Amino acid sequence: MKLNFLAGNRIIRIILLVGLILVLIQLRGWLDLSEKRTDDSFKQAGIDPLPLACIFRGELEKNEPLYLSLLKKGIPSQLIYELTSTIRGKLDLRKSLPGDSYTLVSTPDSILFFEYQKGMDEKYRVTRELGELKASVEPLKFNRIIKSIQGEIESSLWESMIDLCKNPELILKFAEVFEWEIDFLTEPQRGDSFRLIFEEYDMNGDFVKYGDILAAEYRSGSHSNQAVIYQIPNGRKDWFDSSGKSVRKAFLKSPLNYRRISSRFSYSRFHPIFKVFRPHLGVDYSAPAGTPIVSSADGVVISAGWKGGLGKAVEIRHTNGFVTSYGHLSGIAKGIRSGARVNQKDLIGYVGSTGNSTGPHLDYRVKVNGRFVNPLKMIAPPVEPIKPEYMADFQTHRNNLIYALDLLTRNDLLAWERKK
Ligand SMILES: [Zn+2]
Repeated sequence: MKLNFLAGNRIIRIILLVGLILVLIQLRGWLDLSEKRTDDSFKQAGIDPLPLACIFRGELEKNEPLYLSLLKKGIPSQLIYELTSTIRGKLDLRKSLPGDSYTLVSTPDSILFFEYQKGMDEKYRVTRELGELKASVEPLKFNRIIKSIQGEIESSLWESMIDLCKNPELILKFAEVFEWEIDFLTEPQRGDSFRLIFEEYDMNGDFVKYGDILAAEYRSGSHSNQAVIYQIPNGRKDWFDSSGKSVRKAFLKSPLNYRRISSRFSYSRFHPIFKVFRPHLGVDYSAPAGTPIVSSADGVVISAGWKGGLGKAVEIRHTNGFVTSYGHLSGIAKGIRSGARVNQKDLIGYVGSTGNSTGPHLDYRVKVNGRFVNPLKMIAPPVEPIKPEYMADFQTHRNNLIYALDLLTRNDLLAWERKK
């Protein structure tokens, strides 16, 4: 019974196979004909017949522009020119990065298809439509996952967070939420704690990038700073404290910017040591020579140059009678001269030891209407609280985020997923 069935099955298969071969032979003859026939229509459409098309795949190396990578593959420069000038409308090729990858389908004299993957989250495509090359941006679909982390400070924020992160960007984003309130280079103390919930994007299970930090908390002793993100209706998305005041202030907590400093050693584990001293009416930050210094508020440069015992120094006037000064610099940033406008966080110079100084440090002073104030205790005015008409909406939103922050961190849940 079984054998018979198998035998029968085999016969059917053989019949089918023979039939298929006959059909293929027929089809081949027909295809040959049609290829000859469509040769002209391909030419009319500006497309070369396919048989000679090749697929090239490549990845950009360090300091290697796209055209060079394509040249190395033997693509004629004429075609490269046509391709890059098409794609330029959608993508700035000067911003290409090592590791960007591409696929090119081309005949020796015509480009048929090109796809360019920039970083993890941008994809561009060039196709031929009616003879013309057209560039487009390809939307990529990511999963958005809400995750949480929490921890305690051992010695610095960086060291306590780095092992919990897929990349240091999350630390920088966290430091930026609080950069008007906490100087993460000098203030953290052993035993301080932090927790946050944030968006993470992945594709097929692979980490792509961090999104926004949705809620964050930094606790030091009995004092706690909390911030939640909120999209103001018809306005910008920003962080607010739990009472609805913007975390943004007219002055940064410190002119030593966490992101600028960290970018110099992003992938090392340790930050250099920064310390604060108050030997005079301002504050001294001991910091490695060359550490970048930023303007702590928007303003106009009053002076930039040698200033007696302060050595190389910059002085900036801000609104409401505030003046800040930065002394002992090793160098002054490009464009910083008397009369120049600066924005908060603009680079103004580098830590040094010029003038009366025994070692590299930044002498930072703040004056209000001619009188020195303690920059570490200065209470800077916040900008833009939530408008009363949005307060109820904000409060609901804040309660949800704080609830999520508690839930995710207290119960050690890893994440909950939400489709966008
Ligand atoms: Zn000093």
